[in-house]
Amino acid sequence: NPAVPPRSEGADLELKGITKRFAEFIAVKDLDLTVPSGTFFALLGPSGCGKSTTLRMIAGLDAPSEGEILIGGKNVTSLPSHQREVNTVFQSYALFPHMTVLENVAFGLKRKKDKKAMEKAREGLKMVELDHLANRRPEQLSGGQQQRVALARALVNRPQVLLLDEPLGALDMKLRRQMQFELKAIQTEVGLTFIHVTHDQEEAMTMADVVAVMNEGRIEQMGAPRDLYELPKTAFVANFLGKSNLMRAHVVGQQEGLIEAQAAGCKVLVPVERAVQHEGDIVIGVRPEKLHLHREAPQESTGYNELSGQVIDVSFTGTTTEYLIEVPDIGRIGTFSQNRGQQPAQMGDTVYLSWDSAHSFGLAGDEVV
Ligand code: ATP
Repeated sequence: NPAVPPRSEGADLELKGITKRFAEFIAVKDLDLTVPSGTFFALLGPSGCGKSTTLRMIAGLDAPSEGEILIGGKNVTSLPSHQREVNTVFQSYALFPHMTVLENVAFGLKRKKDKKAMEKAREGLKMVELDHLANRRPEQLSGGQQQRVALARALVNRPQVLLLDEPLGALDMKLRRQMQFELKAIQTEVGLTFIHVTHDQEEAMTMADVVAVMNEGRIEQMGAPRDLYELPKTAFVANFLGKSNLMRAHVVGQQEGLIEAQAAGCKVLVPVERAVQHEGDIVIGVRPEKLHLHREAPQESTGYNELSGQVIDVSFTGTTTEYLIEVPDIGRIGTFSQNRGQQPAQMGDTVYLSWDSAHSFGLAGDEVV
């Protein structure tokens, strides 16, 4: 593809002991983070957890109260924003209304007196598939098209690190999904380091190579999306990334790499390596899709990982039917079944649940369930 410039590697980004205080309030607490060059990295968390503050410090728009920021090994902590090899794309696109699309994209390059500004801007527009709209003004574009112009404008400057602060927040769901796909494709193609801030877990999971889940100014857990989903280490992560069933239990023994725990009326097993704590009170988790739903009591009981309860909610979603099941002394357990023609369970039915020990995970006993 001739529109794509040669693969220019991004830079490593490192945060060392970053803290940000606003008067008494600590917005970001002692953050340590290394993002290898060329990574699509997502900072994910609820409103107010400190994502934007972290991004603003990387951009040089806010100074950290403590700690250091390194880009490509160079300490940039005291450098002003324009001297850092970073560009930021915000949710509000901030295109210049009186300029054409092409002039908007060329703006930064012209300011840097780049002789090839117009040529590079055209290439940038091709990359986001908008070269045919080069002569329009921003107001003549849709929201998604404006978003792509903002992205092209940032990309043509070839920052080593591209910061994206909820860049898709203003788009409707369909366009948002399409842009997620395109952004990821562009990032893979140009090989820059992307730091993407979002509170949308699906967006973070589908786009990022590495996700850091933030809560109250700290990173709770960081890893590949699948690893975070399969093996959350805290109740916050378990609940923020998808749905989880969590139940209180007490460890009673250990055998063949499995921890045996007693929950109310049910024995559960969890692999030792999937538990953050191996004795005392713990919290056992299992994802809804890992549960098997049976209409009849199982003929042969293993004595482990088996629950029964009453269906208290049934919702049809098209491909699946979701159930909420009240399990005595344990609480509400969510699961679903594929709609393959069998008769779904009804409200009030007694149903039986089981799961494979390999899918349990174990959290600390003091987690709030
Ligand atoms: P959102 O998703 O809502 O944008 P966020 O995770 O990006 O949230 P931040 O904008 O980083 O959150 O804010 C983190 C915390 O710091 C919030 O509690 C916020 O109220 C506080 N905060 C941010 N900027 C300032 C400021 N200039 N002065 C005082 N407090 C601030």
